[in-house]
Amino acid sequence: MSHSKLASIFNKDEKRVDWHDKALWFVRHKRDLSVHNVQGWEELRNLGHGIKAHMLSNLDNYLIQFEENAKKNGVEVHWAANAEEHNKIVLQILKDNNAKKIVKSKSMLTEECHLNPALEADGIEVIDTDLGERIVQLAKETPSHIVLPAIHKNRHEVDELFQEHLGTKPCDGDPQYLTGEARKHLRTKFIQADAALTGVNFAVAETGGFVVCTNEGNADMGAHLAPVHIACMGVEKIIPKQEHLGLFLRLLARSATGQPITTYSSHFKKPRKGAKMHIVIVDNGRSEQLSRPDFRASLHCIRCGACMNTCPIYRRSGGHSYDATIPGPIGSILSPGKDLKKHSTLPFASTLCGSCSDVCPVKIDIHTQLYKWRQIITKETPQPFVKKQAMKAMGSIFAHPNRFETVGKIARWSLRNLPQAMINSKPNAWGKARDLPLGPEKSFDQWFKDRENEKKS
Ligand code: SF4
Repeated sequence: MSHSKLASIFNKDEKRVDWHDKALWFVRHKRDLSVHNVQGWEELRNLGHGIKAHMLSNLDNYLIQFEENAKKNGVEVHWAANAEEHNKIVLQILKDNNAKKIVKSKSMLTEECHLNPALEADGIEVIDTDLGERIVQLAKETPSHIVLPAIHKNRHEVDELFQEHLGTKPCDGDPQYLTGEARKHLRTKFIQADAALTGVNFAVAETGGFVVCTNEGNADMGAHLAPVHIACMGVEKIIPKQEHLGLFLRLLARSATGQPITTYSSHFKKPRKGAKMHIVIVDNGRSEQLSRPDFRASLHCIRCGACMNTCPIYRRSGGHSYDATIPGPIGSILSPGKDLKKHSTLPFASTLCGSCSDVCPVKIDIHTQLYKWRQIITKETPQPFVKKQAMKAMGSIFAHPNRFETVGKIARWSLRNLPQAMINSKPNAWGKARDLPLGPEKSFDQWFKDRENEKKS
């Protein structure tokens, strides 16, 4: 289904749209307050952009360096070309260790690879331990945001969900009670787990270590209790040196939630005594994206979610309207690279206002890339007949000043004289939610000429 169709489903619940919009704008505002307190924020962004660009240009070397160092630290390193291979590797590790129950901390990569259903099909219990992730898992939904996976749900819905699945008492959506109950439920799962799976925020080539950031400490709890720790990372998570971590951790926390630092930035390097640690390095389309000069910078992304929080389309259409693992502006660049036909409407789900590029901590030119995808999609996928004809007509009008002037006159007259019911009619999609302004009496060209004449006289 197209983005606009899915968005119109979300838009049926006006109250939800309003609080979803406000909640995300609140996070965006927190981000602004936080970054304005940092002197030289723009320099930090430039530096982050530069390090990521350098890393991508030398990705092969840094990946090999990371693998060598991780192995020296006693970690087993696996390589997966695609989602299927990734899932097979994880399953094999679990089988080798006779693991039947795993706890998982937030990892968009495992969402992308559809790991949970793949493991569950083999009889393995997978528990997502990030509270938001657990909420969407119980609701049998996918995350609608990369940092705030259950942002589309209100506390009363969570109350009902917990009553149904965790046997909690009705509490009128009391967040403290619900969090306490979730904690009790998850503690049991942590203690019973045979293995823990985490994502990776940053993997350091120089040391072979990696960092996982959470605000709930769930990655640490899982990895420190279970005898096996599996960390799954996309190839683009590499950073060259340990000294670069400080920069990226500052950029990430402030951009994601406006915090000066994420509550838990946990550094993992080697397995504890008697335990095992595995790292699965996944490509799954990233090399292909790297080979596209116009879009390779999308691999700079550190998954902070700031472009979603600021995007007027995302805020009012909800993450599920993108029908992709990564929603929002950055998802609209990444998804067409994976399946152009399926995701052909996403680059059009943008006003191209550029706010996403303005907030991106690693300075990805998001709106420019969205525009570039539009050009490719228009050429490579079938366009609706009416749209094609309308674009041809517009092209011919813009190419001929006389036609432009005549059409302008007709439009101005219509806006001033036709009844509103005719202007905001069904064929005018814009009119559904907006009143068009009263047309001006004269064109800008005429106004400018008149002004010049007045000056002379
Ligand atoms: S594209 Fe930039 S703003 Fe969006 S999630 Fe990635 S790093 Fe954050």
